[in-house]
Amino acid sequence: MTTSNSSPQVPHVVILGGGPAGVGGAYQLRRTGKATVSLLEQQDVFGGNAGSFKWGDQFVDYGSHRLHEAVAPEILADMKSLMGDDLAYRERHGRIRLRGKWLHFPLKALDLFLRLDRAFAFGAARDMVRGMLPGGPAEGHTFASVLRANLGPTICEHFYFPYARKMWGREPEVLSGIQARKRVTAGSFMKLVKRVLGSRGSYFYYPREGYGQISTAYAKAAVELGADLRLGSRVTRLSPPSTPEGRWVVESERDGEKHTEEADYVWSTIPITIVARMMDPAPDPQVLEAAGAIDYRAMVLVYLELGVDQFTTTDAHYFPEEHLAFTRLSEPKNYFGAPEPKGRTTLCAELPCERNDQLWNASDEELGNLVVNDIRKAELPLEKEPLSVHVRRLPQAYPIYLQGYEVPLGAIEDWTSTLPNFLSYGRQGLFAHDNTHHALYMAYSASDCVEGVDFNEEKWSDYLEIFKTHVVED
Ligand SMILES: Cc1cc2nc3c(=O)[nH]c(=O)nc-3n(C[C@H](O)[C@H](O)[C@H](O)COP(=O)(O)OP(=O)(O)OC[C@H]3O[C@@H](n4cnc5c(N)ncnc54)[C@H](O)[C@@H]3O)c2cc1C
Repeated sequence: MTTSNSSPQVPHVVILGGGPAGVGGAYQLRRTGKATVSLLEQQDVFGGNAGSFKWGDQFVDYGSHRLHEAVAPEILADMKSLMGDDLAYRERHGRIRLRGKWLHFPLKALDLFLRLDRAFAFGAARDMVRGMLPGGPAEGHTFASVLRANLGPTICEHFYFPYARKMWGREPEVLSGIQARKRVTAGSFMKLVKRVLGSRGSYFYYPREGYGQISTAYAKAAVELGADLRLGSRVTRLSPPSTPEGRWVVESERDGEKHTEEADYVWSTIPITIVARMMDPAPDPQVLEAAGAIDYRAMVLVYLELGVDQFTTTDAHYFPEEHLAFTRLSEPKNYFGAPEPKGRTTLCAELPCERNDQLWNASDEELGNLVVNDIRKAELPLEKEPLSVHVRRLPQAYPIYLQGYEVPLGAIEDWTSTLPNFLSYGRQGLFAHDNTHHALYMAYSASDCVEGVDFNEEKWSDYLEIFKTHVVED
């Protein structure tokens, strides 16, 4: 299992996908000298959903992104050394619109006391008292039943359920309880109270050139360490070794040309559903059926350019209610806090949708009008029409955890575990609703499992158990 002209004694790993999981893996493998690395990314920038692009003279992200403080110290230290002063540490200033009132997010006790809609506050307080008495509803297994049992009907009906319908496009009753446990950090009154009272303010890290600078910094460092990272390269076909001594064959397309590469190991961070479809020979029909039974929620991102220095001082506005199409509206300029460019700012509206539904297929003009109207409905200060509108689309924004999704996902995982020297990780590869720091932690963990020309499967299984404990931060 040896290759590569430059390092004949180490394995050659081909990494699929150049989001944080992919570039983090490339960096860590090269830094430790454990493997030679090629990476294939279909887009023309690194970062995947956590990437950025320059629109006019501003860096903007694919929806609101911030690096949470929960990032592992070792990874944060690497980021600081890769980005230096470009990585700012900032206090969060978010707001949630609930029943016509603005609440600070993350929640603050005094703010809640002064601003929360009274009927909502009394309903939630009543639910909390009832929740302390014996005989409440059982947790059950759905998103709806888990949250109703832990937070009572008021918070669910007015906040989490409408938000879930927008976010995942499904009724809370058909979503899995796992979605509630993974996604809702304040998933019980106890946790909610702790978060509100224990809050010393909430902080995050954010790079000067947009969130994608994290991935580009990793990619640059990996290249300096000898990795071969290729943008604009779409992986089209994967063929496992046909003999125990054989190697993987990875086919990709770049500028209309086909490329073929051999690998000792394939590390895939692209959607696991797509991997099943590109395998040659094809897996059993049951595996393909399983790959068709799970899916990701898509998202349309609508960027509005405004001719003002700043729209508001808020970094992200959250909109749980269903009469507004977006779930979140962010102002990228407020994340790093630089005053430039003068006289211009951008807003980014996040509209979850299905690939190929009406929203996905709407024109830029239609989407721009929809967002402008909803901003006005939300009584935000949009005095003039935007100077311009730009639209981007994410085909795989969030994994959708339908009730029972573990069964098809388990079938796919059983199949991938039979593939020799193959690893699927990252948010898309593990169908995990994870943050960037989790994706990077997975990459570092995978590299830790490389021992000479072998991959320590037992260690990786232990890591997989740790990944299951990750809780997504908003
Ligand atoms: C709207 C939104 C907001 C978010 N906010 C935050 C936040 O505030 N903080 C946070 O930590 N996380 C946030 N996240 C999550 C964060 O984006 C992910 O955790 C991160 O992108 C996961 O990295 P990844 O490398 O696992 O996957 P991805 O970023 O999805 O990367 C996968 C890569 O694979 C590539 N690919 C797919 N198919 C192919 C192919 N056939 N050939 C070659 N390449 C291919 C894709 O182009 C992509 O670059 C947010 C996500 C969304 C959608």
